[in-house]
Amino acid sequence: MMAEADFKSNLPESLAKLAADPRVTVRRSGAPCLPAKCVVYWMQRALRIVDNPALDVAIEVGNSLGLPVVVFFSVIPNYPNANLRHYHFLKQGLRDVAEDAAERGVGFVVRRPPGNKLEAFLEEVEAAMVVGDENPCREPERWRQVLSKRLKIPFWTVDADVVVPSNIFNRSYVLLHHFRPHLNRELPKYLVEPKKINPLHRWTPPKGLPGFDLSEDITAGFTKLDRSVQPVDTFTGGARSAVRRLGEFLKSGLAGYDEKHNHPETAGTSRLSPYLHFGNISPLRIALTVEASPLSSETKKKYLEQVIGWRELSVLFVRHEPNYDNWECAAPWARKSLVEHTADPRIHRYSFVQLERAETHDELWNAAQCQMTTTGWMHNYMRMYWAKMILCWAPDPAKAFEWAVILNDRYQLDGRDPNGYAGIAWAIVGRHDRPWFNRPLFGLVRAMSGASLARKFDAAAYIRQQQS
Ligand SMILES: Cc1cc2nc3c(=O)[nH]c(=O)nc-3n(C[C@H](O)[C@H](O)[C@H](O)COP(=O)(O)OP(=O)(O)OC[C@H]3O[C@@H](n4cnc5c(N)ncnc54)[C@H](O)[C@@H]3O)c2cc1C
Repeated sequence: MMAEADFKSNLPESLAKLAADPRVTVRRSGAPCLPAKCVVYWMQRALRIVDNPALDVAIEVGNSLGLPVVVFFSVIPNYPNANLRHYHFLKQGLRDVAEDAAERGVGFVVRRPPGNKLEAFLEEVEAAMVVGDENPCREPERWRQVLSKRLKIPFWTVDADVVVPSNIFNRSYVLLHHFRPHLNRELPKYLVEPKKINPLHRWTPPKGLPGFDLSEDITAGFTKLDRSVQPVDTFTGGARSAVRRLGEFLKSGLAGYDEKHNHPETAGTSRLSPYLHFGNISPLRIALTVEASPLSSETKKKYLEQVIGWRELSVLFVRHEPNYDNWECAAPWARKSLVEHTADPRIHRYSFVQLERAETHDELWNAAQCQMTTTGWMHNYMRMYWAKMILCWAPDPAKAFEWAVILNDRYQLDGRDPNGYAGIAWAIVGRHDRPWFNRPLFGLVRAMSGASLARKFDAAAYIRQQQS
């Protein structure tokens, strides 16, 4: 491996400066491979052209080398735990990427198997180097590590889907209030309008370069794809829908957020999570738009605490906790206490299939499960209750965690996300929470009950909505 100093001395000054940005991770060092015809942005998580720091870095590299940029997206048939519902949303987003790429003056090529290998594409288009985005989840991070060993040209990744780059903290935090002072220290530097970077050179595709036509079915021939989970019409994927959703929320949701965000029977939250998960909108853009609104700073603070505080705490959790998606990530006090309570009598026990089909005695829980399976999204307050009841009804806490992850990843449009793993770890094994009172089944993990929820919001209305 080239030493840091050698690496930088091999780079033009402008590139060395870019590489030193904490948002950038140099995965394969070295000088760009020249002569070349373009710089490639391998888009994987941040499915947007506007407000995308990874694309911005690729364009800056291209401008400084006198090269155009081409965005490459590979549709793979076996994306971990993705089903037809997710691929449908993905494709809707790719259409916006195609239009916006043309508008911004960068190339965009989508490939499907068999001709979808990044390395082959880099050779076909004669790339000088490749820039990717970041995804802290296990498999996507493994792909990046494998590629960094296999690629013959420099490979950088850019932490495009957080406000403050995760490299700044380089650790996880036990509680939000431990993280908050560190975050607040960095926010003035990162919660700022990004500079506008225009590509100076237009990309002309080599003659006959194959690319997938997005009017076709991106899942055709994916024989192992789970098609039983159908697309939903409650959300339409893509940057345009995301921006529209944000606008609507600012107009009619944000002012009442503090009061209504714990009322699942009202549309009191932004419902931006599917768009954030697919990278259709940048968290920085959401935060800046909220900041610029004329509402009280208390209201804005409450929302920013979710979209930056909790969300980035979750990203750090997944980045630094190898067992983020299973019971082994339990907070030590919760693990001890849950083990002590494993033999507690369980009045209700349900199999995984009964839970999946919403066949429990608890109408409120069934309604939440139905909201998730039929609309692809569940309200935050119900997600807490939903996961905590699985803890009570599954054979043991490890199974409860496993079942919650499977259901969440399968049905939520925003599933398979650091927020999901952190949310389940919070609800079932006390991560990012503190010990509470000792209770049957829950032990010291914060308990919730249907009766307590019914006192806080109109549970009957929520149930009716999910049945209609
Ligand atoms: C058991 C459980 C499972 C969850 N699974 C997921 C999941 O799979 N994917 C997912 O994105 N979120 C998940 N969450 C977190 C949260 O419930 C959702 O992000 C939120 O409900 C999304 O709705 P919204 O966009 O209207 O949120 P808003 O209230 O409008 O918040 C705006 C954004 O802030 C972030 N945010 C809000 N609450 C949280 C939180 N508690 N933790 C982390 N980030 C948060 C989200 O990105 C959200 O889109 C889960 C929480 C729990 C308790």
